[in-house]
Amino acid sequence: MITTKSITNLKKLVKKVKKTGKTIGFVPTMGALHEGHLSLIDRAKKESNYLIVSIFINPLQFSPSEDFKRYPRNIKIDKKTLKEKKVNLLFYPQTDKIYNPDFSTFVEETKLSKKLCGKSRPGHFKGVTTVITKLFNIINPDLSYFGQKDYQQALIIKKIVRDLNFAVKIKIAPTIREKDGLALSSRNLYLSQKERKESKSIYQALLQAKQMIKNNEKNPKKIINQINKIMVSNSTASIDYIAIRDANNLEEIKEIKGKVFIGIAAYFDSLNGEAAGKTRLIDNIIVES
Ligand code: AMP
Repeated sequence: MITTKSITNLKKLVKKVKKTGKTIGFVPTMGALHEGHLSLIDRAKKESNYLIVSIFINPLQFSPSEDFKRYPRNIKIDKKTLKEKKVNLLFYPQTDKIYNPDFSTFVEETKLSKKLCGKSRPGHFKGVTTVITKLFNIINPDLSYFGQKDYQQALIIKKIVRDLNFAVKIKIAPTIREKDGLALSSRNLYLSQKERKESKSIYQALLQAKQMIKNNEKNPKKIINQINKIMVSNSTASIDYIAIRDANNLEEIKEIKGKVFIGIAAYFDSLNGEAAGKTRLIDNIIVES
């Protein structure tokens, strides 16, 4: 595996690979790799001839009060994992090379990114779309892979690709979960034992919502109330949002119809040693009614 921090070097390497006619698959990450990331890597490996993974903790997508500083950093282990996965190239740039001091250009999707997580984390998606645009421009991949766990993010990336005519195909891969259903996330490391136990209620609530839809419940409000009940009685988390939306555009719906997104975002007041602070977990399922 080639590892490079240099944008110039990466561009040269990509040029060489492109000349051979190979298709480039790209998986952007913030590191602290887990099976969720690895599932994207496995899929990308299967569907492309040359696989590039980036590890970059993007300061632009964290607000000043968020967890940029304490975000888990595990580069040694990550490199070993990626080597074992036979990734061709790891791009691991330094922050000041991605954002030089006079950086002043941003890419912003203005509809989808105002909803749900965008409401609670103003500027977050603008940070994501700016860095992904930069990475796409640097790498020029044929295919790029995103997790359904961050469904809103994946839709927004698809939208900027369409709106701005990027020549990349976006693939969304299923959420990988712990045995008890908790969606894998680098942020799960922040949870205390008690919170970790409670956190499984997120997926339990989602499954119950799915069951209600299968049982022909058409009223989103009733389902949201039930999710809320499950969350409140099984955890001390404070709910950021519980939402049932049209899965195509995340618009509100009055009636369950077609493909719907059911999403939960909740804060756990982590008291876990060095990682202490608020931990925001998100999860979702897509249900076809
Ligand atoms: P991150 O390192 O958190 O920026 O995530 C990098 C990519 O991995 C994103 O496309 C995420 O949606 C995806 N991802 C994170 N957690 C999971 C998971 N549990 N299952 C599948 N994909 C995931």
